[in-house]
Amino acid sequence: MKIGIIGASAAGLYTALLYLRRCPKSEVIIYDHADKVGKKLLATGNGHCNLMHLPFSEKAFNHPDFVRNLMLFHSSAEMMSALHELGIETLQKGELVYPLSFSAASHVRFLWRSAEKKGVKFRLEDHVKDVVGTTVISERHRDYFDKIVFAFGGKSQENLGSDGSMFTVLSRRGYSVTPLRPSLCPMYSPDVGKSLSSVRHGAKIRLMDGHHCLYEEEGELQFKKDGLSGIAVMNSSAYYVPGCMLTADLFSSIDLRLLTTMLQRSYERFGDDFLTPYMEKALMEFVLQNQKIGAESPLNQRDVARIAEFLKNMEFRIKGLYDFDSSQVTRGGIDINNVNSNLQSRIDANHYFVGECLDIDGLCGGYNLGFALLSAMVVGGCL
Ligand SMILES: Cc1cc2nc3c(=O)[nH]c(=O)nc-3n(C[C@H](O)[C@H](O)[C@H](O)COP(=O)(O)OP(=O)(O)OC[C@H]3O[C@@H](n4cnc5c(N)ncnc54)[C@H](O)[C@@H]3O)c2cc1C
Repeated sequence: MKIGIIGASAAGLYTALLYLRRCPKSEVIIYDHADKVGKKLLATGNGHCNLMHLPFSEKAFNHPDFVRNLMLFHSSAEMMSALHELGIETLQKGELVYPLSFSAASHVRFLWRSAEKKGVKFRLEDHVKDVVGTTVISERHRDYFDKIVFAFGGKSQENLGSDGSMFTVLSRRGYSVTPLRPSLCPMYSPDVGKSLSSVRHGAKIRLMDGHHCLYEEEGELQFKKDGLSGIAVMNSSAYYVPGCMLTADLFSSIDLRLLTTMLQRSYERFGDDFLTPYMEKALMEFVLQNQKIGAESPLNQRDVARIAEFLKNMEFRIKGLYDFDSSQVTRGGIDINNVNSNLQSRIDANHYFVGECLDIDGLCGGYNLGFALLSAMVVGGCL
């Protein structure tokens, strides 16, 4: 059997390795227009590569039912076993799983070397221009295969390889591509001043659509010159709808009454420095300015109570998502109705899809690389 895989990153490499464990005599060729294997993988988890989330919950995905069906035959435990069978030793920090080396570079090198040792041929710096049935037409080759696995990712961070070009190719071949948009990205807000840029503060954030809470998470709120970021905000971006609002409780572990009393006492002791023990200077100035409190004006109890209320419920209008280049994943892709439960195409039975090129995206914390593995287990087991 001769298999062509388009995309030499997480999903493509896992599929090749898992498939070759079953069928070691098969021939596998992997294409990538990047100059090296796993370019995006190198950037993951801040260079540490957060491989998986344990437990691996379907609820973290945009199409939970679809992921749940795949997990019926491949549980979290089996996903961990698959990593170990490939020789990938792991390290767990809380719910996050990393390679034992804690290094994306070592993980990529290991996958690359393992694939080469199993005879996989790489066609690097070779852009795939078209696929006709089981023929792959690239800038430098025209190859014929028995089956093709699409592992070309989404459209996030084109500098790391995934440029979305294959979506155009496949829509010409009859596939439906659901609308693409950035996800796991910062969000624009006109209510963040430039002065707040780079300020960080712990917060419980809620993404609201009117009175309906779309998502909430406790985490670090990072202010940018024109928007908000941090893992909790990036996760919220997966639930973004136009017109939504983000609220932040900067002191979620303290109730409003206690915070008011603490600020009152602080004011009595430290005067106009009363917010200094609680936050960075730029944030303090933003709060006072927002509450229209001048530097010299003495505060009364009502002013302090108002500040406490503001800190417990800051509101930021959200005016959109940052672009694909600032996003970790892409929402949208090959319509999941185009594939069956083996991730085999319903349009051409010799086509299979793995990883982010499908319209499947998950939250931060190892879900997206976890999905690359899960889908590779499905396809690697049935090719
Ligand atoms: C900065 C950053 C950090 C991240 N950190 C994490 C993390 O810690 N944990 C986690 O779970 N997820 C993380 N993600 C998300 C995760 O990296 C992706 O979901 C995952 O890499 C998807 O794997 P994939 O193999 O499906 O696609 P990709 O990794 O995008 O790979 C697709 C490959 O296909 C190639 N390709 C595309 N089109 C063509 C073509 N026409 N011809 C030839 N080659 C082509 C590309 O060059 C690319 O190498 C992160 C993403 C980013 C950007």
